Amino acid sequence: MKTPQCAKCVDRKCTREGWTREQLPEFCPMKHKQDVIDTAWKKYKDPKEQKFYQNSTITEQRAYMNIRGRVIAVRPRILEILKFADMMGWKKLGVAFCTGLGEEARRIVEIFESAGLDVYSVCCKCGNVDKTEWGIAGEDKIHALRGQPDKFEAGCNPIIQAEILASEDVDLNIIVGLCIGHDIQFTWHAKGPVTTLIIKDRVTGHNPAASLTSNYHHPRMWKEEE
Ligand code: SF4
Repeated sequence: MKTPQCAKCVDRKCTREGWTREQLPEFCPMKHKQDVIDTAWKKYKDPKEQKFYQNSTITEQRAYMNIRGRVIAVRPRILEILKFADMMGWKKLGVAFCTGLGEEARRIVEIFESAGLDVYSVCCKCGNVDKTEWGIAGEDKIHALRGQPDKFEAGCNPIIQAEILASEDVDLNIIVGLCIGHDIQFTWHAKGPVTTLIIKDRVTGHNPAASLTSNYHHPRMWKEEE
């Protein structure tokens, strides 16, 4: 049987105490991949990994407070990033943003700076290269949808973004709305850790989870004409 398939697990025994191996589903990695789990466990012994892990887990706990007898979430993601950076001793942040979220990036940088951090930011179009320079055909430009395939259209440059931020030795790279694919390429080329503050989803106001419950987005959406 194919394993792991945790997303199909109903009981999620791994979240609780007191279970037996027989109770685990056949696709459970705790049933079939104990060797991998044991090897991964050992990695937490590295002091660097331990500090990272402990700060992450404490940040997770600090996301909640007991208010009037209820444990509720109190920190938005931007504040969590600030607090986590503080725990890690990171002072220099790099923001790689999409030009379409330029206003959001401006506010984000302002917030980080007001918290005393040293912030560098790079727009996705930095480099100012027409998409055809990277082998994109005119008909694959967004301008082509308006009947203007030959018009200049600046391409996104995730490698440039990554390398410019690396040239400043930032402690943490923060993605703000990079396109799917460009965000992956940015992550590959970034020096040091990367997190995402805003994940681009043009249709849902950057809230991809909305598509999972909306009938206007969901039904067989992969079956579309080119
Ligand atoms: S680890 Fe095992 S018990 Fe936990 S979610 Fe995956 S399949 Fe379920």
